[in-house]
Amino acid sequence: MINVKTDEEIKLMHESAQLVSKTLGMLAKEVKPGVTTLHLDKLAETFIRDHDAIPGFLGLYDFPNTLCMSPNAQIVHGIPNNKPLEDGDIISIDCGVIKNEFYGDHAYTFQVGDVDSDTKKLLQVTKESLYVGIAEFRMGKRVGDVGYAIQKYAEGHGYGVVRELVGHGLGRKMHEDPEMPNYGRRGRGKKFVNNMVVAIEPMINLGTRRIKQLRDGWTILTKDGKPSAHFEHNVALIDGEPKLLSTFDYIYEALNITSTEEDPFRL
Ligand code: MG
Ligand code: MG
Repeated sequence: MINVKTDEEIKLMHESAQLVSKTLGMLAKEVKPGVTTLHLDKLAETFIRDHDAIPGFLGLYDFPNTLCMSPNAQIVHGIPNNKPLEDGDIISIDCGVIKNEFYGDHAYTFQVGDVDSDTKKLLQVTKESLYVGIAEFRMGKRVGDVGYAIQKYAEGHGYGVVRELVGHGLGRKMHEDPEMPNYGRRGRGKKFVNNMVVAIEPMINLGTRRIKQLRDGWTILTKDGKPSAHFEHNVALIDGEPKLLSTFDYIYEALNITSTEEDPFRL
């Protein structure tokens, strides 16, 4: 059952999501060749605790860290380690917090130094597919409309859309109803209702959509070893329209990027 939020709860969820956004913005300045993902993880944990919140992933389903850190062919759920990032890598950072009892949960794939043009294109298209999906999260539409739009956009570029992992409702629990797949059929699935909150999060592969899992029981990666990208926003349905609770503004500020992509969806 979809867990509809009060206006007050959505305000609190906005705070939670914004804290994740700020954490990612802080990390954006630190992502560079030579830095380890474990170092970034510790920075994030300290930052979150300093802002009167607790890391949302740490201990959730027994995950061992604050951040999911998934470089290159890793899609999601990578575990931070002591291996330094290298020039040309990409790193998907997924971050969650609990603040005021509500989760924030969003993700961005960063470039480390100089990234090849095929991989850069994958990042761009994956991020675009996120907004294509968000635009479908509106009154009168259904879960399948969001998935269909993301799938069509990403597959239109020849990419593989991961099936096994999906977006989700968000609230006092990290994973609430409904599941939000990044593939689907128009007009199918649950109907959207006002004051619901979801995490929309396309996971798009440069090559095959097929995945495998490492023996650590967590890390999901592409079967063909080609790169994968992951971008995630938290979105509330307010007066029939999609409104972003999270933002990439802090990342863009850190990286000197100008963008208007969030403008149609600002709260
Ligand atoms: Mg996430
Ligand atoms: Mg999520």
